[in-house]
Amino acid sequence: MDAQRIWKQTLDIVRLSISEANFSTWFSNTFISEIKILEDDKQIVEIGCPSSFLRSTIEERYTSLLQDALNQVTGKKNNISFTIKQNPYKTKNELQFSPLFNSQINKDELFEKAVKNAHLIPAYTFENFAVSSTNQMAWAAASAVAKNPGSSYNPLFIWGGVGVGKTHLMVAIGYEILKNNPNCRVFYCMGEEFTSQIIEAIKTKTTNEFKRKYRSTQVLLLDDIQFLAGKTAVQEEFFHTFNTIQREGGQIVMTSDRPPEDIQRLEERLRSRFEGGLIVDISPPDFELRTAILLIKAKQRGIQIPMNIAQLIASKIESPRKIEGFLIKLISESTTKGIPIDENLVFDLIGKPNGEKTFHPVSHQEIIRKICEYYNLNKKQLLGEGRSRKLVLPRQILMYILRKELKLPLEEIGRIVGGRDHTTVMHAVEKISNLISTNKEISEGLMRIKNFSSPNN
Ligand code: ADP
Ligand code: MG
Repeated sequence: MDAQRIWKQTLDIVRLSISEANFSTWFSNTFISEIKILEDDKQIVEIGCPSSFLRSTIEERYTSLLQDALNQVTGKKNNISFTIKQNPYKTKNELQFSPLFNSQINKDELFEKAVKNAHLIPAYTFENFAVSSTNQMAWAAASAVAKNPGSSYNPLFIWGGVGVGKTHLMVAIGYEILKNNPNCRVFYCMGEEFTSQIIEAIKTKTTNEFKRKYRSTQVLLLDDIQFLAGKTAVQEEFFHTFNTIQREGGQIVMTSDRPPEDIQRLEERLRSRFEGGLIVDISPPDFELRTAILLIKAKQRGIQIPMNIAQLIASKIESPRKIEGFLIKLISESTTKGIPIDENLVFDLIGKPNGEKTFHPVSHQEIIRKICEYYNLNKKQLLGEGRSRKLVLPRQILMYILRKELKLPLEEIGRIVGGRDHTTVMHAVEKISNLISTNKEISEGLMRIKNFSSPNN
């Protein structure tokens, strides 16, 4: 068998084990430049590569694959060496393989470059995103958009409180699209940044550049759109950008801390555009999700946290952002002091004055006061006999907090809440526990009452 035939059959085998893009990138112009026979069943095959870059990549990644394939084709033991040479058989068609033949740039490199150009935040991928009932809908919508940008839900509008994972999910869409097509022009931008760029462009009379940049985007990820509120010139430009991208078949994804109808001073034509797509919300994460987030974040840092410790932290800290902050502190404390990550360390850090702000209510009076304040009721209404929903829900939330946070006995709670019997208390606690993960009004109310999501954290 001549060298060319051997090489062709070898590459036919190699081709089965690597992606088409990699195959054509690395092997399209390779050839056998020499075969040195050592013994009957041993030989050295010298492989010609057109550049040193190709040579070192092939040598590093594919030597053993090539060796196995050569052994299979020749029935001999082959050793491989490499040389840098132009392919003398290049013009012959028989060695041409795929349409990607000319591409010398590896798909991985292209992807990395695209991620950088798109300004995506590292590690905010679907693989690192945990799903539960509080974000299931948003996740499903985001996955659908990532699979079929520009067609399924356009625009996709994701809203929810601070730290619930809006940015993460939005960026994950960008990653997924680029993974499937690194040539897609994806761009992530914060509403604030978008705003200041337009204002700057108007000031320096460079709006054309701005327009070119944004209007040629195929997938625009605009984060925290509420920053556009009240800024007429910015909204005007966004409206045109929006229309151009959509007209060209592109995809728009937006996030906000509130639904479109609650964004004050938003032009009606924009609002109606937003409402023409899909609007999904994410509620604050439940206990299971917080545990999962903690485990994911720890794993990303190469740390294994025992399940009971993860659950302990998740039960104490409600905001995913603070969970991550706490984790960093925990890891650094454990490594600098050389102590294990255990319950003692967790309690130690949570208890510190400048540690995480967790919920330590002083008394039931304090909780009653906070609930009255939040729901705009007086104490008599909250603890009284009124049966309207406006009163019943806050009352049940009160019983829930007294039970879950102060761990008071049912009878005692009944006594505090206007002399009710323990089955009423039990029923209320059960009801709120069941609703907490699905009902945004309740979960948000709880968060606010417990001071976990003041707008500045
Ligand atoms: P938002 O944009 O809603 O304020 P982020 O997307 O910035 O929230 O999320 C805050 C932090 O919590 C990030 O580190 C993010 O990775 C993490 N996070 C939130 N939700 C999830 C989730 N479901 N799975 C994994 N990490 C999450
Ligand atoms: Mg965000």
